[in-house]
Amino acid sequence: MHFENSLTFARQLDQSDPLRSYRDRFYIPERNGKPLTYFCGNSLGLQPKTVRHALDQELAVWQQHGVDGWFEGENPWLTIHQRCKKPLAQIVGAKPSEVCPMNNLTVNMHLLLTSFYQPRGNRTKILTIGGDFPSDQYALETHVQSRGLKPDEILIEVFPRTNEYTWRTADILDAIEQHKDSLALVLMSGLHYYTGQVFDMAAIAQKAHKAGVLVGFDLAHAVGNIPLQLHDWGVDFAFWCSYKYLNSGPGGVSGLYVHEKHHETALPRLAGWWGYDESRRFEMTKGFVPMPGADGWQLSTPTVLAMAVHHAALQITAEAGMKALRQKSELLTGFLEFVLNETADLTFMTPANEAERGCQLSLLIPKNGKSTFNYLAEQGIIGDWREPDCIRLAPAPLYNTFEEVWQVGEIFRTK
Ligand SMILES: *Cc1c(COP(=O)(O)O)cnc(C)c1O
Repeated sequence: MHFENSLTFARQLDQSDPLRSYRDRFYIPERNGKPLTYFCGNSLGLQPKTVRHALDQELAVWQQHGVDGWFEGENPWLTIHQRCKKPLAQIVGAKPSEVCPMNNLTVNMHLLLTSFYQPRGNRTKILTIGGDFPSDQYALETHVQSRGLKPDEILIEVFPRTNEYTWRTADILDAIEQHKDSLALVLMSGLHYYTGQVFDMAAIAQKAHKAGVLVGFDLAHAVGNIPLQLHDWGVDFAFWCSYKYLNSGPGGVSGLYVHEKHHETALPRLAGWWGYDESRRFEMTKGFVPMPGADGWQLSTPTVLAMAVHHAALQITAEAGMKALRQKSELLTGFLEFVLNETADLTFMTPANEAERGCQLSLLIPKNGKSTFNYLAEQGIIGDWREPDCIRLAPAPLYNTFEEVWQVGEIFRTK
């Protein structure tokens, strides 16, 4: 698309935006009675207006029915997770049986590592990217230690080349090839939190499988941001959080995915009663019998209140559909890149190629980065600062507008 750096042009794009009505479904934070320009959905998505009612409903059930809320009311709590499965499956490109909302992200990462990291013989290593999200690094390090192994000997980290910010797919594929006889697992982010780079998950999965290696992705920044086809790509397992692009509230329920091909196998797992065969759960008998599919990784009684919020929020993303969201997102982020290039001399860490990024742009500002960030904040632009020199701006297609993008450009110009 040919962009123009003008308010009129931005407003035209908003006029012709098929998703423009979705903004009204969210509360936009304000300062002094004026809406803030919230480009921080990569950290915490905004509150959908429907979640308070969803929460109130469950509070009312609790108030009126007490423990019977598990079985009574319109939507008994016992099956609350099932209502999230259909929209989740649609959003990540999976079958409903392959996904389940549960726990929190890092917890799910450990649970899935227990199942899918099975070092055997020469195949003991885990290939990942260097500089992944800290929680993922700590989880890998300590998970490996918990098996009595040494992280230095087990973890293979692939880095961007010198003087490059992002990874070349070929380098990741070459690393898999190079280590193929010693690898047990490939586990990495599907979309890098810092640079905003989208990895070629299909190609990585294909390469890993050819080498007989399992592959899993952390989709914290990918879910609700870019279209995913986890089932068709053959990805073995994945996990995500719901408080970023899925707008399910601070610390909201996480989710995981396990490919159908693993549903019949007796994978090792850390189990709890909520993963036990539902039809017999309350018989309370000895010996763990898992639920089939992703549900079998549940451990504990679900956090019903958080799940009610999650369910309400998921409806919005599922209704908009990842295809339409992605179309708008490419335009919105493309427009942001365009206006920033028009108005300031900036370095982008995020790939220029649309296929290799989601909605986030990461700006490298080596000099006075923090003061630039503070200036933006004073002007009502909420982005996110990462030490030592990075500003992340993420226009979310569900609630951000082209006019807001244009304003950001203006503020950079007048700085
Ligand atoms: C946000 C994020 C997390 C956060 O993990 P929690 O367990 O939800 O605190 C982990 N990994 C990545 C890649 C993230 O972007």
